[in-house]
Amino acid sequence: MVASDTTSLKHAREALRATFGFDDFRGRQADVVGRTLAGLSSLAVMPTGAGKSLTYQLPAVMLEGTCVVISPLIALMHDQLRSARANGIRAATLTSADADWRETQDAFRAGELDLLYVAPERASQPAFRDFLASTKLALFAVDEAHCVSEWGHDFRPDYRMLRPLMDAFPAVPRLALTATADRQTRADVMAQLGIPDDGLVLAGFDRPNIRYAIRHRDNPVRQIAALMADRPGPGIVYAQTRRKVEDLAQKLGDATGRAVKPYHAGLAPEIRAANQAAFVASEDMVIVATVAFGMGIDKPDVRFVAHVGVPKSIEGYYQETGRAGRDGDPAAATMFWGAGDFATARMRLAEVDEDRRNAERSRLDALAGLVETPHCRRAVLLRHFGENPPETCGNCDNCLDAPDVTDATELARKLLSAVYRTGQSFGMGHLQKVLTGAQDERILQRGHDRLSVFGIVEGDDARLLQPLGRALQARGDLVPTEHGGLALGGSAREILKGERDVAIVVPPKRTRRTRGGNAEANPVGDPLFEALRELRRELAAEAQVPPYVIFHDSTLREMAAVRPASLGELGRIGGVGAKKLEAYGKRFVDEIGRH
Ligand code: ADP
Ligand code: ZN
Repeated sequence: MVASDTTSLKHAREALRATFGFDDFRGRQADVVGRTLAGLSSLAVMPTGAGKSLTYQLPAVMLEGTCVVISPLIALMHDQLRSARANGIRAATLTSADADWRETQDAFRAGELDLLYVAPERASQPAFRDFLASTKLALFAVDEAHCVSEWGHDFRPDYRMLRPLMDAFPAVPRLALTATADRQTRADVMAQLGIPDDGLVLAGFDRPNIRYAIRHRDNPVRQIAALMADRPGPGIVYAQTRRKVEDLAQKLGDATGRAVKPYHAGLAPEIRAANQAAFVASEDMVIVATVAFGMGIDKPDVRFVAHVGVPKSIEGYYQETGRAGRDGDPAAATMFWGAGDFATARMRLAEVDEDRRNAERSRLDALAGLVETPHCRRAVLLRHFGENPPETCGNCDNCLDAPDVTDATELARKLLSAVYRTGQSFGMGHLQKVLTGAQDERILQRGHDRLSVFGIVEGDDARLLQPLGRALQARGDLVPTEHGGLALGGSAREILKGERDVAIVVPPKRTRRTRGGNAEANPVGDPLFEALRELRRELAAEAQVPPYVIFHDSTLREMAAVRPASLGELGRIGGVGAKKLEAYGKRFVDEIGRH
């Protein structure tokens, strides 16, 4: 690193402290900021919550001229705008939803804007190029840059028009940002936007503050209510159908007394918008939603994401769980799965076009692998994204409480032959009764008590039948029939012939509930902390912004612990920049003084 880089990063740290109140950069932020300050173009691939926006907002404040931010969603732009302005950054949006067009244009021409947010549709118009030429530009930031690539999953043709626009300003550095880009998409984005090969800054996919857990679903209302008790903040529960969303929202609200609201495409638009707005503003609301919910929502303090039923793919799982804990505080991602989820998904494979069926099948197999692994969940996830993670993470269910792995080959052969001998048309309940020799009327009626498999499973093995049945269904070795029975599928025949072994994971008995709380959790019940939250709520209501825009929980926690007695001391708390110190500092110091 040359001397000037070191100095500019030193200045950047000072500006980071002054504007955002943060003591240091996170992850690879410093690399991105350093390159931008040096006038170089980059593609930053960083997971959600890594702090991508800061990597262009900070240079925007430090450099002379305006940073033009291209962003695909108006809701996202307005979110960013609110947070930027709260930190005293001179920012504006130029969208169809804005009434202050003229002011914004005047401010831009006068060089009074640090940040100007626009949608790609506007940015690609020739008149916009002339408009940009009217003042000095510091940087082009292209958010959600994967939209430029047809390889990505959200291709937006207007992103293709950004290149000619930026080429018209060859001296202005470009910074493309995305959270999702595989190798192919990355290369394409860089080529499309004219970013040099050495401009890739790739942060890992790991979200260390998210605790992954995957459990069998036996009673979703009770299980999620327990999760809510462990994680008292805002949460998202994903369910698969509108009906399940409605039902679960109702029951969870009744069971917990907390605010729980539904969100799905079948709700009237105004109700949907109101529920979403209430969730964004709240400090403890739970929203039960279909996967349609979450795009474009930037709420940093979501404390848990729960899946009732398996998600569509590992990519989907990563994206949905990624909405938890963007503020870096501890958060949970808990999936509650049932054998039926896989059964249904595998049944649907038959309806999929043949050319897509294999891809869909491997998607399901990858999910089954994640659900069934006795090893670190995080390692499975990260390997899926091409990383080479450590064997254990210490922050997933399997690392914290290792499950047993049992060889169940013998038992699997017994179960599969019971399936075969009963005609491949009965469900797990009946099969269990046959295998354990129950004197059931239905069994006697059908003569299943005379089969060679009748009563051949005893003792401890009987308790393994359920988890074994689930595992075989997840793997596709047992497949559902139209009438709710089970038939042989996948590798069932190889298992029966003794050509393949079957190991299954036996979940540990959870006698004591592991609390989610740890050193970093909010000191709920501490009178000072609660008073600071109350003050934050008041200020948020006055400013008509969500509470997290005023200060994050971590900032309030540090205030409650350090008890700053003056504005000077308060200014040293993480997250208290100059603008917020000026706007809210006195109120917080006074409040702390009263306790
Ligand atoms: P992304 O866009 O990558 O998902 P954001 O830009 O929304 O992430 O940032 C996530 C959160 O992390 C924000 O609340 C932000 O204030 C916080 N953050 C960003 N950079 C830092 C930092 N260097 N130190 C502490 N907090 C940070
Ligand atoms: Zn782990």
